[in-house]
Amino acid sequence: MSEHDPTIFDAILAGDIPCHRVYEDDHVLAFLDINPLSRGHVLVIPKERARFMHELSEESAAALGRVLPKLCKAVMAATGCEHYNLLQNNGAPAHQAVFHVHVHIIPKFEDDSGLCIEWDSGSLEDSEHLTQAIREAIT
Ligand code: AMP
Repeated sequence: MSEHDPTIFDAILAGDIPCHRVYEDDHVLAFLDINPLSRGHVLVIPKERARFMHELSEESAAALGRVLPKLCKAVMAATGCEHYNLLQNNGAPAHQAVFHVHVHIIPKFEDDSGLCIEWDSGSLEDSEHLTQAIREAIT
């Protein structure tokens, strides 16, 4: 699917296909991931149609941020998980498959089900220039 086509989340938002809805307000919908990485894997999406986080309005971003802690708390209470990852992919090379902004809440359990990450970290280089470049790019 192209990054510009309507996505399956548009169909869910329109009520054209079902989802296991766990939360909804004026700006946000949350539902169970259909192919969960672990029990209780939830997707939280803005109702605004935006492909990537950097395209999202401040209003929708704020609405997402406002509900995340209570949704995490609810997933913990419902599943008994004590640990979890939040994942938010932007772009196909960054493992985004559905081009509508979404945040994954992925419980991590003792049996190691959940998100598995190979964290191949490097050392910080060019830090002065990079810090300045990012500061100046903030609009
Ligand atoms: P991402 O790789 O970050 O774009 O993740 C997209 C997620 O959407 C995957 O975890 C899918 O399992 C999930 N997904 C795709 N279609 C549906 C659907 N109809 N209902 C619930 N989750 C879905």
